[in-house]
Amino acid sequence: MPELPEVETVRAGLAAKLTGGRLETVELLRKDLRVPFPKDFAKRLAGRRLESVGRRGKYLLWTFDDRTVLIAHLGMSGRMVLRQGAPARPARQKPTAAAPPPAEKHEHVVFHFADGTSVAFSDPRRFGLMTLTTTAEAATHPLLAEMGPEPLGPSFTGEYLRAAFKGRRAPLKSVLIDQRLVAGLGNIYVCEALFHARLSPWREAGSLRGKQAQALAGAVKEVLAAAIAAGGSSLRDYVQASGELGYFQDNWSVYGREGKPCPACKLTARCRIARVTQGGRSTFYCERQQR
Ligand SMILES: [Zn+2]
Repeated sequence: MPELPEVETVRAGLAAKLTGGRLETVELLRKDLRVPFPKDFAKRLAGRRLESVGRRGKYLLWTFDDRTVLIAHLGMSGRMVLRQGAPARPARQKPTAAAPPPAEKHEHVVFHFADGTSVAFSDPRRFGLMTLTTTAEAATHPLLAEMGPEPLGPSFTGEYLRAAFKGRRAPLKSVLIDQRLVAGLGNIYVCEALFHARLSPWREAGSLRGKQAQALAGAVKEVLAAAIAAGGSSLRDYVQASGELGYFQDNWSVYGREGKPCPACKLTARCRIARVTQGGRSTFYCERQQR
C-alpha cells in the first residue's frame, strides 16, 4: 500500500510532466471508486489549467486555475500511468487530432491534456478515491482537516511526539499509524522507523523519554527521506519505459523480511527479523535490540 514516500514520488512525477498543462477532457470509465465520483466531476475539470500538484499525507492535491482542487488517494493498489503525447510537430505543419489510446483494464479515469499527454488512474481493488474541493476549503475538508503534521515538516519533532504520546498506553506501532498523530505513515515506514530508532513496536507510547522521542522523530524523517530519494531515482529510469509512476522499492531493513538476518545484529548475533501481528497487520522487528 502506498505511503508518504510512494505518494510523494508519484506527485513529483506528475508535477514534472503536467504542471501548467491544460486538461482537455476527463474520461470517466465508471461511477465510483471507494466512493462515487462527485457529480459533474469531468465537467468541472475539463478545460482547466493545472497549476500545481501537491500532497498532504497520502493524498495528492491537484490545484487548477479556477481554484478547484482534485483530492486523490491511491488506496491499496492505485497507480497513475502517464502516457506521453505525440512528439512536437514543426510549427508549419497543421496539427491533427490524435485519437487517445484506449484505456486498459482497471483504468477507471483518464485525464487527457491538451498537449497529448494523458494520465490514467488504474486501481484493481478500487480502494482509491477522487473528490473535488476548492483551495479555500481544502484545509477544512473532512479528509484533510484532522490530519496530523507532515513528518518531514518542521513541526514534527521529538517534543511534538512526546506531547502527543503523553498518557497514551497504546503500543507505538498503532499510535504512529494514526493519521491524526502524523500524516502519511503506514505499516511499512512505521516498522522501518521503529527499527532505526531501536524502539519496540509493543512499547507503550506514553513511556517514551525525551531522547527516545527525539530519536524516533529523527528516524521517521530519515526513513522517509531515503525512500523518497530512492523513489526519485527509480522514477527517472522507469517513467519512460512503462509510464507507470510509483514505487518499486524492496530495500527495506525489516519490513517484509521475516526470518532474514537482522541488519542491526548481523555482526554480533544470529538474529532474525521477527514478524508479529498487531491490530490485524504484520509488524516486522528485531526482538533483541528494539526496546
Ligand atoms: Zn536483531
